[in-house]
Amino acid sequence: MFLAIGISVLYNYKKENLEVKEITTNNAISESGITDYCINPYAGCQHACKYCYARFVSRFYGRKMNEWGKFVYAKVNLPKLLSTEKKLKKPGEIILSSTTDAYQPLEEKYQITRKVLQELLSEERFSVVIQTKSSLVLRDMDIIKSFGSRIKVGFTITMNDEMAKLFEPGASSTSQRIESLRKLKENGVTTYAFLGPLIPGVSDFEWLVEQVREFSDYIYVDKLNLRPGVWQSLLPTLSEVGKLEEVRENLESNSLYYKEIKKKAKELSEKYKIEFDVIF
Ligand code: SF4
Repeated sequence: MFLAIGISVLYNYKKENLEVKEITTNNAISESGITDYCINPYAGCQHACKYCYARFVSRFYGRKMNEWGKFVYAKVNLPKLLSTEKKLKKPGEIILSSTTDAYQPLEEKYQITRKVLQELLSEERFSVVIQTKSSLVLRDMDIIKSFGSRIKVGFTITMNDEMAKLFEPGASSTSQRIESLRKLKENGVTTYAFLGPLIPGVSDFEWLVEQVREFSDYIYVDKLNLRPGVWQSLLPTLSEVGKLEEVRENLESNSLYYKEIKKKAKELSEKYKIEFDVIF
């Protein structure tokens, strides 16, 4: 599914010491456990979130899981492939993206996601969900608005600006994400906030809800999930902020921290008449 061929360019990306390659992929649309389908315009992600579960993708490209955030492969032929592949698929909902962020900074240069949206706009059998941590999504407001009710845009928001700098170093700041959510809502787009993974001692759930509730049609809530490689990646930052023990003690869904979140979500849903989906 992640097989890619025909590597054409290799260079360091600006000062980030990020390795960027342009590759060709052999499929545009994949089946997804989140929605019906997913499209991942890139392999790898510059946002480099410490808790990212998608790091398992590294091995499909001959990379190690601890190299996540240090390489990005841009699937430059994907929009062209999509133009024919989309006609062969049954109708359904497509998420952008499941194992990368379709609006990471390199998208400004490559515009693969923009071209994907242009392809999907004319194919009315598909609806689209965009979930991102980047304000760059606002660049495509023109196309997004043209989808009407066939599109939803969600922002993943997990912690305040100060913490996000450490845990999500390459993403737009939390304040920028909230502001982008507001702009999308103001433009009549269906929006949601994905509050997760909530990290014990790091994420202040009630504060997050207060920041996003006015600009979100609904809110997802998720816990920290320690998929392969995640704990090793998180450990140094959790130690740095002095939250290692608190996280260790609250990893399970029935821990004090997550039980309190479930309770609060119910209360806040009733108080603000907004739908919450707690997915743990
Ligand atoms: S933005 Fe998403 S895909 Fe990218 S590193 Fe963060 S969690 Fe992973």
